[in-house]
Amino acid sequence: MTRQPDVVVIGAGPNGLVAANHLADQGWDVLVLEAQPGVGGAVRSAEDVHAGFVHDTFSAFYPLAEASPTIRSFGLEDHGLTWRHSPAVLGHPTQDGEWAMLHRDRSITASLMERQSPGDGEAWLTLCEQWDRIGGHLVNALLSPFPPVKHGLGALARLRSVGGLDFVRTMLTPAVELGRGRFRGESPRLLIAGNAGHADIPLNAPGSGLMGVLMTMLGQTVGFPVPEGGAGQLTQALARRFESLGGEIRCSTEVTGIDVERGRAAGVRTVAGERIRVRKAVVADITAPSLYGGLVDVEDLPARTVSAMRTFELDPGTVKVDWALDGGVPWASAPPHAPGTFHVADSVEQMTDALGQVSARAVPAKPFMLAGQMTTADPTRSPAGTESLWAYTHVPQSTVRDAGEGGIRGEWDRDDCERFADRMQDRIEALAPGFGSRILSRRVLGPREMEARDANLIGGAINGGTSQLHQELIFRPVPGLGRAETPIKGLYLGSASAHPGGGVHGAPGMNAARAAIAHDRVRRVAEGGRRAVGAVTKVGRR
Ligand SMILES: Cc1cc2nc3c(=O)[nH]c(=O)nc-3n(C[C@H](O)[C@H](O)[C@H](O)COP(=O)(O)OP(=O)(O)OC[C@H]3O[C@@H](n4cnc5c(N)ncnc54)[C@H](O)[C@@H]3O)c2cc1C
Repeated sequence: MTRQPDVVVIGAGPNGLVAANHLADQGWDVLVLEAQPGVGGAVRSAEDVHAGFVHDTFSAFYPLAEASPTIRSFGLEDHGLTWRHSPAVLGHPTQDGEWAMLHRDRSITASLMERQSPGDGEAWLTLCEQWDRIGGHLVNALLSPFPPVKHGLGALARLRSVGGLDFVRTMLTPAVELGRGRFRGESPRLLIAGNAGHADIPLNAPGSGLMGVLMTMLGQTVGFPVPEGGAGQLTQALARRFESLGGEIRCSTEVTGIDVERGRAAGVRTVAGERIRVRKAVVADITAPSLYGGLVDVEDLPARTVSAMRTFELDPGTVKVDWALDGGVPWASAPPHAPGTFHVADSVEQMTDALGQVSARAVPAKPFMLAGQMTTADPTRSPAGTESLWAYTHVPQSTVRDAGEGGIRGEWDRDDCERFADRMQDRIEALAPGFGSRILSRRVLGPREMEARDANLIGGAINGGTSQLHQELIFRPVPGLGRAETPIKGLYLGSASAHPGGGVHGAPGMNAARAAIAHDRVRRVAEGGRRAVGAVTKVGRR
């Protein structure tokens, strides 16, 4: 007889695995179905670029996981996870041969800034002290279901101590401006704007400043840690913990539909034609467009959901390049401390231009790049003296022109991908002459290849939908569906398409699991009440 679990979790990405762990912790019988041959979603790694080198396939640095109360509470260190840190968190080489640099030791960050621009060291320490007072509450509020009553009140209570409305205004200031008000030099501006560029909020729009400060201050306080041995060790640890609780994961099992009976999720259908019924719930670690009108038939959805989904906006596509190098990156001007991550942009203004080109549906002429020196962060990634390196950048979901000279069409076939990878590589070569001669192997993952390896990365969108304010909080994924609950009873959205969005913090998964548990309790109480009323009525009739 086919097994009937309490809950099926669709997708073994970090959010699906977080949901599965929490549900198993609560004693639920959980079955996870994953389309790919292995678990992890966009948190995977393999030795598939060059022998002896581990490369992270997608994501690489996990400050949000380290700051996430949910992920910390799982004690993944007991399941094989070891965090590693690079000597410096983040660097940004500048045109004049200097580096903007975030070191985990705030006094070192401050003294580097002070040397470049007197007064900035103290201004940096002031920002850090403000973050010490309010940052934990802000992070917890962001990672809670909306509205975040408890942590929101905690942040409000501390607002006066960090400058009241002045602090609020700073957080609302676009990233491109935020640094200018508080610092004299370029380095803090570059760090804040570059970190804001991890999301797709335009650097001159509100929301980008908060994102920039959040990621920069997380870098300053928890660092940008990486799992020893590869990104996949994080999701492997989540999977091991889940299985140790009796949970089951079936890989190579794509879910092709969700059965809805009388407005309630009754089970799922798999690509092999299997029907699995659930006792309590289905948690979907898949994107909103793949759920609404995808796995759930349009006929099973209210008209308002179908029409709201027409306004759902994806984030831009992505091209990621991995290199195996037979030496370190030969920087023209060496950084004062070796950074795990580095950003590539000529200036804050050039970064804004490049991101603006993507918004205007042009292939960027000089892409703003995020990059990682993984062996610098974790020496187990490749042989001593070599480097496992990657860089990624964003490209339009649909392209109208190439802002550069290569005539890249935006088809993202092999030709487009390789030529765009050359453009990205040239950016590093300009900062590190001789870079090309150190390459043992190169792999290019364009938008199509990304989606083939993880169906949630639609057109290379890494965050399950734009992070711009109009699709955040109560508007995520669309207005009226701002929580994990869906219009179908017993079905919960637990992916990055749900509040609070992309990044490896597990909040959407945890919110979905908690919602499923809370609704099940209410349902059981209501059923108990109905049974009691039925019994009393029967006795009355007798
Ligand atoms: C290139 C790249 C770089 C990134 N860098 C970082 C970073 O450094 N730090 C960070 O915090 N975040 C980063 N992110 C973002 C982060 O990885 C994602 O936000 C996060 O993985 C989202 O988790 P998820 O569980 O919602 O979805 P995913 O990780 O995408 O997992 C979804 C899973 O569901 C499976 N699935 C989909 N459809 C079905 C189906 N029908 N049936 C069964 N299974 C299905 C998929 O195969 C996949 O395993 C990056 C993402 C990318 C792509």
